[in-house]
Amino acid sequence: MNSFGFNILFFVAIFTKVAKSYPLQYDEEFDDSMPDLSYLGHRVFKEPSVETGKLVETWNATSDINPEELGEYAEGDIRFPKVARNGMIAETLRWKDGIIPYKIDGFFDIDSLNSIKRAMDIYHKYTCIKFRKKNDDDDDYVSIVNSNTGCWSSVGRIGGKQEVNLQSPACTSRVGTPMHELMHAAGFLHEQNRFERDDFVDIAWSNIRKGHESNFDKADSSTTTGYGVPYDFRSVMHYSGTAFSTNGKPTIIPKDSSKTEKMGQREGFSKGDITKLNQMYKCPDKTASITGNSQSTNSGTESHEISQVENKDSSNPLVNLAQGIIQALFHK
Ligand SMILES: [Zn+2]
Repeated sequence: MNSFGFNILFFVAIFTKVAKSYPLQYDEEFDDSMPDLSYLGHRVFKEPSVETGKLVETWNATSDINPEELGEYAEGDIRFPKVARNGMIAETLRWKDGIIPYKIDGFFDIDSLNSIKRAMDIYHKYTCIKFRKKNDDDDDYVSIVNSNTGCWSSVGRIGGKQEVNLQSPACTSRVGTPMHELMHAAGFLHEQNRFERDDFVDIAWSNIRKGHESNFDKADSSTTTGYGVPYDFRSVMHYSGTAFSTNGKPTIIPKDSSKTEKMGQREGFSKGDITKLNQMYKCPDKTASITGNSQSTNSGTESHEISQVENKDSSNPLVNLAQGIIQALFHK
């Protein structure tokens, strides 16, 4: 073997070792309920992409897919800064007491700010996650930005400032996209990449755009959990059925043909999403008080009702004006 080949092999061996052993790199705050991200590999470190931004710019709401499915990042919209906490590999933690400090650093118009605020309000109503403005004592926080590089977030708390990019208007046009990216920031991965997804859906590999097959890799079964929630077609973390399609044909097909719910909805949380958030952040009582039955985790009509309730826009101009003033204050 020549030295180049040896070097490549050596690099792969080292990388594999790092990826396999990195959970041991967590500090004392290590929380074993957070997912192992090593299956995402080096793809999570892609630089913000202007090409993605151009695709997202031409997206419109009549599209069958979501703008976060247009990205060249890991699984479309997961990206970490190049160097993580210890310079090793993407690692993640839960947010202490479910409090996620944030700062709006991008310039957004009122509609986009409304969408982001509405997304946070929905978290506050249905979960014990609390988004609050960053103060000087907050070392770790989410910076919400609006660069022309698509919709993306890292997963969980990574330490220091971490960005959630919401390229407007595409990434803010439906409240479900900010909710989706913030749910990544809270610590969740995509629903269709659950380790047991092959029991529920078929992946049509031949319909996937060449080079994007890894977006359908499955998460590690030993470190990810569905918190007792069955595979959830209506999760706000599920891709649309034609995500990353090369020919417009489905890439994700339910095994049970009676499952006719739309995959990839971005109208609001499913009941399962709420349960999972409250389980991760240890406040199942909140789920129980909302659903009336913490054991019932199917995502059916109730989630649809949640979506509908949360998407009633005010048509009163005075209310809209008041909201605009509030939002202007909210921005600063
Ligand atoms: Zn995503």
